[in-house]
Amino acid sequence: MKLWSGLKKAKDVTMKAVAAGTERAKEMIDEAALQRQLNEACLELGQKTFELMAAEKLDSAELTEAFVKVRELNEKLEAARAGAEAGKTRECAACKAPLDADAAFCTECGAEVAKAAAAS
Ligand SMILES: [Zn+2]
Repeated sequence: MKLWSGLKKAKDVTMKAVAAGTERAKEMIDEAALQRQLNEACLELGQKTFELMAAEKLDSAELTEAFVKVRELNEKLEAARAGAEAGKTRECAACKAPLDADAAFCTECGAEVAKAAAAS
């Protein structure tokens, strides 16, 4: 009987710890979800602000610096994407095999890659 009550007490303590842990884990999940929602809301606010400024519907000296920064990064990203796309679509003039962006010779037929193509 004594052993049983001791075991039961240990079990209760364990269950309480698990419950407390679960509660904390739930709080952390709620926190993470709220943080994610906040990030998304801020992103949306930023995008809408950017669009308004780009359309010249919003003019704020305080926001100009951030606006210019976003616009520059956006342009860089588009240029990088265009470059990656151009790299992918390059092909050998002789055999039409796809070429690496920096390839000097075709890996399929060995033809020299035109310098004009490499420069573009
Ligand atoms: Zn080739």
